[in-house]
Amino acid sequence: MSIRAIQITGTPVLHVPAAPVAQITGDIQVLIDDMIDTMHNAPGVGLAAPQVGVGLRIFVWHYDDGISLSEGEVINPRLQLSGWRKNLLWGTPAEEGCLSIPGERSPLARYPRAILTGLNRMGEPIRVEANGWLARIFQHEFDHLSGLLYRDRLRRDRKRDIDSAVLERGWGTSASEWTPGPEFHEEDWAAEELGHSEEESQ
Ligand code: ZN
Repeated sequence: MSIRAIQITGTPVLHVPAAPVAQITGDIQVLIDDMIDTMHNAPGVGLAAPQVGVGLRIFVWHYDDGISLSEGEVINPRLQLSGWRKNLLWGTPAEEGCLSIPGERSPLARYPRAILTGLNRMGEPIRVEANGWLARIFQHEFDHLSGLLYRDRLRRDRKRDIDSAVLERGWGTSASEWTPGPEFHEEDWAAEELGHSEEESQ
């Protein structure tokens, strides 16, 4: 397993629909292992193949709500959604982030229930019923396979906030990437931004 570079918004592969996997080859197995490794190191609760620069319909997830752990991989997924979309979870705003827009967060309404179907790495059919955060994770990762980032689903004012942060970092107009590791994680981007604006204000 190895950590792959995570593509940042503006990189073309993130903004076009991914292609179905025709055959689960050894390369696909390596890709899935690397995606899991990259997700854990970022750290994140989900990662889609386009985020590591591969335009294929695969995502991985790992979510522990304190009661139970749900993790896995899905190839050529389908997602069935139900309930009323909302951005509250147990009474608090559910802020969403993305490893491809590192350091940023925004509330976003999602469906509370989702049923994920597709294939696992052995080519066997899977079916996962999800509620709350897990349902949100599935919607977020599934969107990546359609070339959509959560930013694309935000209200105009929140979209503008994200876009200006992205622009300030020099992202969004061409390909860029970052690599997580023991010394640098997704949340460090937010800390780095603070340091940057302090510097600027002096
Ligand atoms: Zn994402």
